[in-house]
Amino acid sequence: MTSTHAFWLAGRQATGESGFDVTSPWDGSQAGTVSLPTDAQVEEAVAAAYAVRDEFAATPAHVRAAALDHVSRRLVERTEEIARLISAENGKPIKWARGEVGRAVSVFRFAAEEARRFNGGEAQRLDTDAGGQGRLALTRRFPKGVVLGIAPFNFPLNLCAHKIAPAIAAGAPIILKPAPATPLSGLVLGELLAETELPAGSWSILPVPNDKMPALVQDERLPVISFTGSETVGYAIMDSVPRKHCTLELGGNGAAVVLGDWASDEDLDRAAARIATFSNYQGGQSCISVQRVIADAAVYDRLLPRIVAAVEAQVTGDPNDDATDVGPLVSEAAAERVESWVDEAVAAGATLHTGGKRDGASYAPTVLTDLPAGTTLACEEVFGPVLSVQKVNGEAEAFEAVNDSKYGLQAGVFTHDLQAAFRAHRALEVGGVVIGDVPSYRADQMPYGGAKQSGVGREGVRFAMDDYTYERVLVLTGL
Ligand code: NAD
Repeated sequence: MTSTHAFWLAGRQATGESGFDVTSPWDGSQAGTVSLPTDAQVEEAVAAAYAVRDEFAATPAHVRAAALDHVSRRLVERTEEIARLISAENGKPIKWARGEVGRAVSVFRFAAEEARRFNGGEAQRLDTDAGGQGRLALTRRFPKGVVLGIAPFNFPLNLCAHKIAPAIAAGAPIILKPAPATPLSGLVLGELLAETELPAGSWSILPVPNDKMPALVQDERLPVISFTGSETVGYAIMDSVPRKHCTLELGGNGAAVVLGDWASDEDLDRAAARIATFSNYQGGQSCISVQRVIADAAVYDRLLPRIVAAVEAQVTGDPNDDATDVGPLVSEAAAERVESWVDEAVAAGATLHTGGKRDGASYAPTVLTDLPAGTTLACEEVFGPVLSVQKVNGEAEAFEAVNDSKYGLQAGVFTHDLQAAFRAHRALEVGGVVIGDVPSYRADQMPYGGAKQSGVGREGVRFAMDDYTYERVLVLTGL
């Protein structure tokens, strides 16, 4: 039996005039039916958010923090049910879906903590020059206005949490739009927020269809756009509203570098295990999945067979099964795209070591070497369970290979050498460098975002709050 999910208009439940079915990519079963807002309902939500912006900015920190803490606690209580929902609509293996709920718990908890300490302000003496004598500057941050948050399908709960929790913490009203393939997990957040005392109008969660989004993006009452998704859509949004504040969290083709000192059997087993897990978790549909392994020639021959064995040991299949590591991709079309990119690479001369097979929406974990430059797989984000391994000579060549990409989200460097860690931090053109692990590590409080075409701006609770607000100075005279 499936249920119809209402959306959230200015903090209350509402239904529109039509709806659509959300289905599981694993077996086509119906995960739920979602009601679509009418144009008039979207307008009502925007008008309500705009009208409440001053009141929300002035809502005491303890009220906003209590609401955020409440959502965090309720997510803990409802973990299993919400994880099942993520799994049903996204195809994510249940163990990863539980992990995603756990991360959303942290995001709301961090946001509650930040709400309590944010905007403490800074006092600056101005009597350092004669003209400033008797004056004092006080600086505080105020919301820029209503935030339009746009979320992707791959972490349907946590990436909605990363939009809405910092907005509430900063006192900025938000209109949140979840992804069309996976709206159910984002809508659940509405059930928890509706249990709080936040002012009506301060939040809405609306599954607005893509063709109606340009009008919302253009709306002048929404000065801040926080987008997570593909490069194509993200840049099209930013280009269409050059005067708005846009945060873009876009794609990547994450590299894991294995330097020559990471050479013991234990080291290589660990690197191979981490690489195999994090090139395939969420079916490779994470912006910081491992897509490229760049291995020093000193360890390459011992590392490659370990990676192939570890990838072959990944348990594929039913996302509902606790043992499953890799489920389906979000759709059959997504798996077909991955298949065509691998086929193109192999036809161009890449060597296939394992995988390379599709079954409906599922694509087998795949390892390639000898990937020719210029193939789609070598240039673009695969967003599937596909890994290429490349041999390099020395650290400088490894770092050059990482940077030989239009993307720059995160990179991992397996090394024990502290100096090499600092050199990597300096040399790699990415938003984050992870030493001793894959690029796929993200803690929800740390600044997170891309260099180059992986994005603009940073998320991570406090950093998103900075993005949603601006500094306003108060100059006191006659002191
Ligand atoms: P997508 O770009 O297709 O969709 C993202 C969102 O944009 C969806 O909600 C979609 O409905 C909406 N959208 C589509 N057309 C729009 C328009 N014209 N105007 C406004 N909104 C519109 O991305 P996706 O397939 O859902 O997600 C996968 C992508 O997201 C990958 O590229 C991945 O790397 C990226 N991603 C990045 C991060 C990060 O933090 N850097 C995290 C997760 C995913």
